[in-house]
Amino acid sequence: MMGLEEYKYKDLIHRCFRCGYCKFPTDWSDVTNCPAYARFRMESYSNGGRLWLIYAWLTGEIQWSENLSKILYSCTSCKNCVEKCPLSFNDDIVNMVVAAKSQMVETGKVPPLVRKFLQNVQVQGNPYGIDANKRADWMNGLELQPYQGQDYLYYVGCEGAYDTRAQGAARATARVLQDAGVSFGVLGVDECCDGNEVDMLGEEALLEDLATKNIDQFSKRGVKNIVTLSPHAYNVFKNKYPAFGGHFNVLHYTQVFADLIKTGKLKGPEQQGVRITFHDPCFLGRWNGEYNAPRKVIGAVKGANFTEMERNKKGALCCGGGAGNFFTDFLGGSGESPARIRAREAGDVKADILAVACPNCLTMLDDAVKAEGLDNRIKVMDISELLCPA
Ligand code: SF4
Ligand code: SF4
Repeated sequence: MMGLEEYKYKDLIHRCFRCGYCKFPTDWSDVTNCPAYARFRMESYSNGGRLWLIYAWLTGEIQWSENLSKILYSCTSCKNCVEKCPLSFNDDIVNMVVAAKSQMVETGKVPPLVRKFLQNVQVQGNPYGIDANKRADWMNGLELQPYQGQDYLYYVGCEGAYDTRAQGAARATARVLQDAGVSFGVLGVDECCDGNEVDMLGEEALLEDLATKNIDQFSKRGVKNIVTLSPHAYNVFKNKYPAFGGHFNVLHYTQVFADLIKTGKLKGPEQQGVRITFHDPCFLGRWNGEYNAPRKVIGAVKGANFTEMERNKKGALCCGGGAGNFFTDFLGGSGESPARIRAREAGDVKADILAVACPNCLTMLDDAVKAEGLDNRIKVMDISELLCPA
């Protein structure tokens, strides 16, 4: 049985004094900016409560239970709590949850859906458990080149490769890059899971395996610049791979698009009078501070009116899909699921289009808009699809 001694943050975790600030939004007006707390409205689902439960578990005051593991795994790693916690250790409060998840992984005591996710990645290289040989199906009909020294490797990721809705964004991104004359190649069936969610689920050994395998493959092929469809891949390549020896210039596709717009190589389509709002993905925004590039790209759509939702940028509400929750869905099944709250917020600003820049957000919010009965009013579109209407 692992305990407090093996816990990386054993000297820090007791310093949370349960003020509860970590679940608030930017203007402190309501108590719902932690997506897990918004869904369940119990302190144990906010980070203050969760950290105290972890401490009690590690010191043997409470026993492991399936409920405890679900509470840990309901944290989407959205980092709202990092923004709001007033203490000097705030940078580490999501890491503390991830480290506790790691101890659950070590003891084999994770929820069955988390186990399934990790097993699928181990066996097929993707969380869905779909045959790895189907990884290139998303590009059927597109004339894409395998990566062989072009300027960019376009890394699509598991959602873009396998999820039928996210495949639309993967294809649109490729078409925009092609039309703008960008030199890029893809890995097709040789692509493998990037490991960001594996990391957030606490499976350190599997992250190391994936990172080592990917770095080896990228290096052998001479990759220097990577453009990713997903902010999750962008995050892990940029912030975690250097520790495994992988040093690449990593960009999210909205950053590449924004640059292409600036240099006149990419022009936005006409969308006269259409009202667009944007949902910030946590792994682009709070994790990496990129709020401008997606807004610059949306700004290139001619004739459209851009409107912010009340919660935006650092204060955006997570869609609930991070840290593997797009698969495990521990926050689903209710009108108070964060994705459904977010769909209603897009309705509140009378958006015709809810734009996203992440395949996880795309699938979560597409489903949520339907569940809210708003799909006759609001279209959920990836920014790549906005630039490249089907
Ligand atoms: S994590 Fe920080 S903000 Fe949250 S309850 Fe603890 S001390 Fe307060
Ligand atoms: S990372 Fe997000 S979901 Fe997790 S506790 Fe913090 S605010 Fe809540």
